[in-house]
Amino acid sequence: MKTSNQTIWIRLAIALMAAALLVSTASAQKPKRKKAEPVPPPAPTVTAEELKELSDAASKSRESLIAASNTYRESLQRLLTLQKQDKERAASIVEKNKKLLDLGVLAKKEVEESEQVLAASKTKSAETEKQLESIDQLVAEVEAAEELAKLPPPPTGEFRSSGVLVRFVGFSRWNLSDFGKVDAFYRLKFGKPLPVSAFGQTQTHNQLGFDHSNALDVAIHPDSAEGQALIEFLHGQGISFIAIRAAIHGSATGAHIHIGASSRRITPKQ
Ligand SMILES: [Zn+2]
Repeated sequence: MKTSNQTIWIRLAIALMAAALLVSTASAQKPKRKKAEPVPPPAPTVTAEELKELSDAASKSRESLIAASNTYRESLQRLLTLQKQDKERAASIVEKNKKLLDLGVLAKKEVEESEQVLAASKTKSAETEKQLESIDQLVAEVEAAEELAKLPPPPTGEFRSSGVLVRFVGFSRWNLSDFGKVDAFYRLKFGKPLPVSAFGQTQTHNQLGFDHSNALDVAIHPDSAEGQALIEFLHGQGISFIAIRAAIHGSATGAHIHIGASSRRITPKQ
């Protein structure tokens, strides 16, 4: 299969080269046949050293955790800037290659390859954007945990509220595999999937030393219609949750609903 495909491409390439040669010899003053633009080099990632520093700092105190999350955020923002540049470069290469294809001087395969590079760069920057969002939510959770520590724990089946957050401890034993029934409720009610921002343990939780392995974060504001309906459902099902309206200190980012027990600090891996 592969060999016959290759043969087809080789024949096609030879035919195109021959056609190009005819065009270029027919009018000598025309520019030479252009080559496909080179594939842009991959954007550098956050270094292992940076991540190690982050883990070490996160294991010390809340202040250093916030500082570590800021460092991590800055690293990711730098990465995102580069990834966006890559994406723009890849998009302009696709455009150029398409024009060359229309002129008959470039193989379709090369256009497809540049389109694949563009799709991959889009995926990468979307992943980084998601990671940035999860940092904001994690910081909000860390601060929420401190706020909750000041309040006596609510008796099972009751709410405890501090203004910026609401905690509910339910009768049900929550397991991450129960995700399906929450998602099913949400789809039925709102006709779209549950907007999950962190499913169990994520890279961010690992880096900042938090156990989130049995918890689920939903990126909706607790005061929105969706948030209110979800809270009502979780309450009715006896599922524990923490609804966070905002990061307590400062920014308004990080509002979400955390389903499951609250996150615990873990010792980051050395
Ligand atoms: Zn969470």
